[in-house]
Amino acid sequence: MLMILYILLTIIMLILVYGVLPTAIMRMFSLGIFRSADAQGKVALTFDDGPHPVYTPRLLDLLKRYRIKATFFVVGEYAEQYPHIIKRMAEEGHEVAIHHYRHVSNWLLTPFGTKRQCAKTAAVIRRITGREPVDYRPPWGHLNLAVFWARRPFRLVIWSAILGDWKRTLGKERLLKRLHEGLQDGAIIVLHDNDRTPGADEGAPLIMLEALEAFLADVHDQYDFVTVDRLAAVDRRAGNM
Ligand SMILES: [Zn+2]
Repeated sequence: MLMILYILLTIIMLILVYGVLPTAIMRMFSLGIFRSADAQGKVALTFDDGPHPVYTPRLLDLLKRYRIKATFFVVGEYAEQYPHIIKRMAEEGHEVAIHHYRHVSNWLLTPFGTKRQCAKTAAVIRRITGREPVDYRPPWGHLNLAVFWARRPFRLVIWSAILGDWKRTLGKERLLKRLHEGLQDGAIIVLHDNDRTPGADEGAPLIMLEALEAFLADVHDQYDFVTVDRLAAVDRRAGNM
């Protein structure tokens, strides 16, 4: 009994030192992380965890209506299931970027595991779109001690505003308010177009779509909504990344 407790404590300690602490420290000091830009009038909308066969096409329709380009951090296994949606993203001028092949945290992956998740997803994107992905966002934004080596050659992108849209109870009005609060020059806003992720509420993307529609109706002509790659290109500090 004591032995089991000892092993459990050791595992928890290892995860803390390998994953949780580096995530906290790197985020606190923005070490090698791109999470907002020095770019007037430009904002990047980003969507994690897709593609989803229902929500993602609806989202693409909405973005098309307002002529907005966004960035999709896709899960490799879903991209493989719905290649036509990935193809559509690329054809409509959106950036297709890497989440992981499966939605698994870096806290539970070895450095080689992280590298494999990125490489496998990149291969899927390349095969469907014919383009080389540039950006990488780890699931839940979790980093580990080796992620700066393991993510290469991809750019590590976190966010400037995360809004809790994976919870249905947040509701449309509160999400809309948070979208407005997160809106500023160079912002990178993260939303979710899939409810299959552990921790996400079923149907939450429907509320996200409603809030986003109201948000874009308000602000689409006040800001230039661009992909993360485009935002990085106009960022004066991005040369440091
Ligand atoms: Zn995710």
